[in-house]
Amino acid sequence: MDQNRLFHQTRLQLATWYAGVMGCILGLCGLGVYQVVAHAYRETIDQGLESVAHAIHGSIEPTLQQPGQLRQLAQQLSLEFCQTQANCLTPRSLANHPVTSAVAPVSYYLRLSSLSNTPIAIAGLSLDQLPLTTASPRWLTLTTVSGKHFRQISLPLQVKDQQWGYLQIGRSLADLDQHLAALRLTLLLGCPVALVLISLSSWWLAGLAMRPIYHSYEQMHQFTADAAHELRTPLAAMQSTIESALLQAQAATADVISENTLLTTLKRQNLRLSQLVRDLLLLARLERQEPPKHTVCCLNDLIHDLVEELASLAIAAQVKLTAQLHVCEPISLTGNEEQLYRLVSNLIDNAIKATPINGEVVVSLDRSESYAIIQVHDTGIGIDPEAQRHIFDRFYRTQVDRSRQTGGAGLGLAIALAIVQAHQGSIHVQSQIGKGSTFTVQLPWVSFKA
Ligand code: ADP
Repeated sequence: MDQNRLFHQTRLQLATWYAGVMGCILGLCGLGVYQVVAHAYRETIDQGLESVAHAIHGSIEPTLQQPGQLRQLAQQLSLEFCQTQANCLTPRSLANHPVTSAVAPVSYYLRLSSLSNTPIAIAGLSLDQLPLTTASPRWLTLTTVSGKHFRQISLPLQVKDQQWGYLQIGRSLADLDQHLAALRLTLLLGCPVALVLISLSSWWLAGLAMRPIYHSYEQMHQFTADAAHELRTPLAAMQSTIESALLQAQAATADVISENTLLTTLKRQNLRLSQLVRDLLLLARLERQEPPKHTVCCLNDLIHDLVEELASLAIAAQVKLTAQLHVCEPISLTGNEEQLYRLVSNLIDNAIKATPINGEVVVSLDRSESYAIIQVHDTGIGIDPEAQRHIFDRFYRTQVDRSRQTGGAGLGLAIALAIVQAHQGSIHVQSQIGKGSTFTVQLPWVSFKA
């Protein structure tokens, strides 16, 4: 297939389209997975931070209800008071705090600030490391001057139902950034690898999809070549006959007998050519499934008529031709009578031609529950198993020289098969070299009982 430029290009286009579409779907899926995973991480972080913040808030608010307890609280929480800028630049670590130490090694900061957002006390990060912030909204994602990300929650601080400030707890998002960076890297490396695999499988699938098309293309190609070849032979013969007739006429020596011989040859070749064209037309019509003229045909009569009609041919070939009707009542079906005659006569004609002198050809009719069974059996030369596989192909001949003598172009069985298929039936052959062949046709019959 790849040797054919048209098919190679089409396969390439198909594969490219397929890989492109799959690549887009894959990209969108990757983006979706990234968003879902990032969202899940953030949710988990927010839940953890909220429970830490509530635990700290719950532990400090009762203490603050009593005046002067802020300093004691500062000691408990390792808070550094921001009386001047300088003493807030080296805050104590929150790592020893009972709540935040439970979630180590994540770094936390804690900040107490007034309603005007002035820091009162901090822990965890120095004042210059802390991101600038406002008390609202409750949740904030902040970036420090050094580019680090923090997630912060703000909770109000109240004394006797009077809010005086905020407790702000922040948590570093370094672990989240790390996880997301690893995920991005995996997706960025994984997507091209997946795309390469998709491209390879697209190429393979495009090849698979195009195989039957290529097969029928080849058959069409072969058919055209065979038809041209078959038409060329009688045309060439006619051409040479005409040329010799012209030469004889020029020499004026031709007598009537020789003219008659030439005209007979011309007539025979013309007949063969016309038959070939008729067969090709019939095949084309059957293939296009043009609705045939359907009438009720009695197969008993059909076989009887054909055996009678072809008796002279059988006598000439010294072959015994008989009909065996295994059913008493008529077997009928709705179909194209002309085509059904052609089907059975092709089989009988082939059988007579393939049977040597003193051989026998038997045409039988039987029926099963839903099918009429026509069999044409001969005691002829038989067909070898390899030829049996191709015998219904167009222009296929088992013995080309012999077929040429008998005038066949290898279309008889192809036409028989097309007719059987147009009548929803089946045809098959059983044969043994030197012993003979049996062609069996099954056609659905109909009952016309009143
Ligand atoms: P054609 O129209 O040339 O006879 P067919 O399509 O009818 O071609 O048959 C195809 C080939 O099968 C021919 O070469 C023919 O000789 C062979 N064939 C058909 N029927 C028989 C048979 N009953 N016994 C042996 N060979 C057969």
